Amino acid sequence: MLEGKLALVAGVANRRSIAWAIAQALHERGARLAFTYQGERLEKDVRKLAETVDSSVVVPCDVRDEGDLERAFGQVADGLGGLDLMVHSVAFAPAETLQGRYLDTARDDFWTALDVSCYSLVAMTRHAEPLMRARGGGSIVTMTFLGGERAFPHYNVMGVAKAALDASVRALAVDLGEAAIRVNAVSAGPIRTVAGRSIPGFSEMEGIVATRAPLRRNVDAAEVAQTAVYLLDAPGVTGTVAYCDAGYHAVGL
Ligand code: NAD
Repeated sequence: MLEGKLALVAGVANRRSIAWAIAQALHERGARLAFTYQGERLEKDVRKLAETVDSSVVVPCDVRDEGDLERAFGQVADGLGGLDLMVHSVAFAPAETLQGRYLDTARDDFWTALDVSCYSLVAMTRHAEPLMRARGGGSIVTMTFLGGERAFPHYNVMGVAKAALDASVRALAVDLGEAAIRVNAVSAGPIRTVAGRSIPGFSEMEGIVATRAPLRRNVDAAEVAQTAVYLLDAPGVTGTVAYCDAGYHAVGL
């Protein structure tokens, strides 16, 4: 169903990244891919991975930098010849915010987390809009976590950023529905990635999910990718969060 669709994937750091699992799933379904990556340090790895899914459109983009975004979307539009799909799989919070109490979050750290993890979706969507309008519509998916709805130990400011991200998904869906551009989020269970493992107590969280979730296990990145692909391809679905977490969100105890 995604044959020939033009897709931008932001957030591949390495082969464990959720964004990479989504990229592979899109490639298997016939989409043509472009990638943005955070900085020089990641370039070699991301280029190597991109080659395996027949992509040579691999451009740097720090999502905090408007100039970077402008240039990157120009290069992606030229390289792909347009844009139908966008995957936003980007988040960051300074390490110290995930250590102690949320109460002690410094103002600068709060804004950094919200900027990278939430506003970046708004900024990227603004750049994607004209490209998707030119194609008669489009579909955008971002990655969220239950920590935006419930308090999780150590998730702290990241939970606040995810709550803002979830609200942004709904607001962007309203803004862009008239252009047939859909905006949705996947709420994933814990996955062993760089971002995941940066949360103190991550292994304990995995253990609790594996015991309490209805499916009595954790999910893997390929399953999360399947949910992302469903949302990217579901014509009547927008402004929603789909859970791929072995059902953990559904239980109270
Ligand atoms: P990851 O570390 O592989 O990916 C995070 C990405 O964010 C990296 O590619 C990193 O380069 C990018 N990034 C950070 N700051 C950036 C910046 N300033 N500019 C551009 N890119 C920047 O980890 P992941 O788990 O694949 O994370 C992807 C998304 O999934 C995140 O939004 C994360 O919160 C979300 N998520 C992860 C889990 C989990 O358990 N791993 C669960 C639910 C949701």
